[in-house]
Amino acid sequence: MALKMGLNDVVKMESTHLAQVFKRLPVAISHGNGMYLYDIEGHEYLDMFSGIAVNNVGNCHPKVVDAVKKQAEKLMHTSNWYYTLPQLELAEKLTSITGMERLFYSNDGSGAVETSFKLARKATGKKEVVAFKNSFHGRTMGSLSLTWGERYRKPFEPLVPGVRFADYGSMESLKEQVTGDTAAVIVEPIQGEAGVNIPEKGFLSELREFTADKGVLLIVDECQTGFGRTGKLFAFQHENVKPDILVLAKALGGGFPISAALYSGFDFEAGQQGGTFNGNPLACAAANASVDVILGEKLSENSKKMGGILLDVLLDHGLDARGMGLMIGFNVKDGRGTVMKLIRERVLTIYSGNTIRVLPPLIIGDEHIKLFSDSLKEVL
Ligand SMILES: *Cc1c(COP(=O)(O)O)cnc(C)c1O
Repeated sequence: MALKMGLNDVVKMESTHLAQVFKRLPVAISHGNGMYLYDIEGHEYLDMFSGIAVNNVGNCHPKVVDAVKKQAEKLMHTSNWYYTLPQLELAEKLTSITGMERLFYSNDGSGAVETSFKLARKATGKKEVVAFKNSFHGRTMGSLSLTWGERYRKPFEPLVPGVRFADYGSMESLKEQVTGDTAAVIVEPIQGEAGVNIPEKGFLSELREFTADKGVLLIVDECQTGFGRTGKLFAFQHENVKPDILVLAKALGGGFPISAALYSGFDFEAGQQGGTFNGNPLACAAANASVDVILGEKLSENSKKMGGILLDVLLDHGLDARGMGLMIGFNVKDGRGTVMKLIRERVLTIYSGNTIRVLPPLIIGDEHIKLFSDSLKEVL
């Protein structure tokens, strides 16, 4: 490999060797520190997307880095044929902070959604699952079946049968889709990939009440809303509901890939779910450290406080911004174009269509909001 690669070399190499599935933005990121990312030429960028709501503790948090280093020197992998301690420590922590009974680890959000789908059928003996229009739950065949959107689904049909879609936020529409064969309803407390769709207050608790009445499981997909993103540790806590299955991913590992499906009152039987890497000691060490940082540094509280300030700043710019905590979106005429202009201001965001998604690390302070606001002024 060339000793010193420029952006053009990187772009050419990517287009030559990698699956052409990502519509990448023209920045080659070399390293990160807290709220900042640096490209291969050394330019500094303000991180306002956290690697898609993953780096909640900031980039390369020293406690997470330290935990990964120590664990890497000790043990990286053994499989689940034997017991290892980091996965037990993490399981105890996660069940305690969520109020759930037990969990199954996976390596990404899609994997944990797959687990929830299998478990819902297994636990109820029923086949159907109701998801919502504009939902995003992943790209493996099972999780894709729960994901709305022709462009994701069409080329891969037939998908898993028995999935119905209701209008997001509408109990009336949901009720029309629930039948005697409904195993579960799966819901994002706020739709993330769709562009930060926030349902009316009370939707989640009404959904909980209705599904409990009908004996239908409620799967809450907090892949994106979890770990302080919305201003509480978990979004389900805004409405005091208890999910039957809770799906966690993105921010769990502080940048290391790991996910989990947590549940109470039922379980798989031996051999019905598994995986070589699930609950891998290195991933669990990263997650243990990351969760400790989120709790210890009170990042949910900071998310609530800074999210409120940031939302006001966006509204002051005359934007139709909406958000909860540090999960914020606002619409523009040209989503990708606006993100490109922000890159020129050395600020990194992402977009869904013409919605700019603002998902900064939860360690964000006033000075970063000021920087972002000044950059927006240049761009809008
Ligand atoms: C990102 C996401 C997923 C899928 O996670 P991957 O790690 O990309 O497989 C599932 N559900 C929600 C709500 C997500 O935001």
